[in-house]
Amino acid sequence: MISFIGAGPGDVDLITVKGRRLLEEADVIIYAGSLVDARHMDSAKEGAEIYNSATMHLDDVLDVMKKSAEAGKNLVRLHTGDPSVYGAIQEQMDALDEWGIDYEVIPGVSSFSAAAASLKREFTLPGVSQTVILTRRAGRTPVPEGESIDKLAAHGASMAIFLSAGQLEALVEDLKKGYTDDTLVAVVYKATWADEIVVRSTLKDVVKDMEGRDIYKHAQILVGDFLDSDYEKSKLYDKHFSTEYRKAER
Ligand code: SAH
Repeated sequence: MISFIGAGPGDVDLITVKGRRLLEEADVIIYAGSLVDARHMDSAKEGAEIYNSATMHLDDVLDVMKKSAEAGKNLVRLHTGDPSVYGAIQEQMDALDEWGIDYEVIPGVSSFSAAAASLKREFTLPGVSQTVILTRRAGRTPVPEGESIDKLAAHGASMAIFLSAGQLEALVEDLKKGYTDDTLVAVVYKATWADEIVVRSTLKDVVKDMEGRDIYKHAQILVGDFLDSDYEKSKLYDKHFSTEYRKAER
């Protein structure tokens, strides 16, 4: 069996229990060494074949998968965060489908959740925003026209921006077309890793506040009033509000 597994954002204990168990049982492991902590390999059994995909092409990865499937081995493909966001997992799954090779996907904790946890903030505050936009600025990978940052910014929603710390200035200019200059911004570098860095700022000041920090990758950029604002308490825990599980108090 081939298992695509989300390794989580960094901290090795943030992989799921199911993911860890499959990792321990794997005969072959291919991990994304650029963002998955190599300490995950401490869970591998003795004699497991280990590959770092940072130095491999798609065809190399698929070749290892095909050979282990043919040999009846268990293979774990370990991706950073959750593989469904910027995981480049679809092209692997599609190739396996084409070859009739079976696989499963075990989700993981994405870095956008980890960044919110580090900041101790909730993306969906009533009366502030009920929408989270996960996006990136166009880089070597283009972004469809309707999803440009300025268009998304017009919603004023909570935003988690991946893969864009290397173009902060241009990103901020785009964001300012939708959000006010005072909108809060947090940059979370390597969330849940030992060398995590959190910078809290505003759209107006973030470029200056990031100067000299050498943070061009491995960072989440979170934007929106959810980072600090007055909000309405949730209806879910309001004692005057009935839910399926609880009657309202009068
Ligand atoms: N599938 C991953 C994202 C892979 S794309 C996930 O769910 O998190 C790689 C981008 O994710 C990085 O450029 C960065 O923007 C973000 N990222 C991944 N791990 C991170 C971490 N620990 N802290 C902050 N950002 C992270």
